[in-house]
Amino acid sequence: MDSPRKSGRQRRLEIRERRRQRALAGNTHSVPAEPGRHWPAGAVAADPAELDHNNTYGMLPLYYADRAFICRDCGSAELWTAKQQKWWYEIAKGNINSTAVRCRSCRTRERTRQAEARRIHLEGLARKTTPPTE
Ligand SMILES: [Zn+2]
Repeated sequence: MDSPRKSGRQRRLEIRERRRQRALAGNTHSVPAEPGRHWPAGAVAADPAELDHNNTYGMLPLYYADRAFICRDCGSAELWTAKQQKWWYEIAKGNINSTAVRCRSCRTRERTRQAEARRIHLEGLARKTTPPTE
């Protein structure tokens, strides 16, 4: 039974969890639809013109479907929605073979870690190439 006191956030989490379960159970890959076969529920049509940046001999997707995945770092059960995939492949121009591997917070942490590693690396390079000032 749904209580009327449930918060919007709680409800959104429940809807997301249902979609994740459905993605787990059903077709979880954005493969081209076979003629006559129905797209999975919640599928979003792909725009081939926006996928032009992919230099691939493989087939480009006709649609995106929700994909369930486990975060590589923290192991949390996550959902990469069809809409997020469309954004990633068509707006952000992500490679067609790339997929979500980390949850949002682990992604942020990883980005920070990489930026920090890059900074330390560049500082090291600068020390090596700059002669001592004395
Ligand atoms: Zn995570």
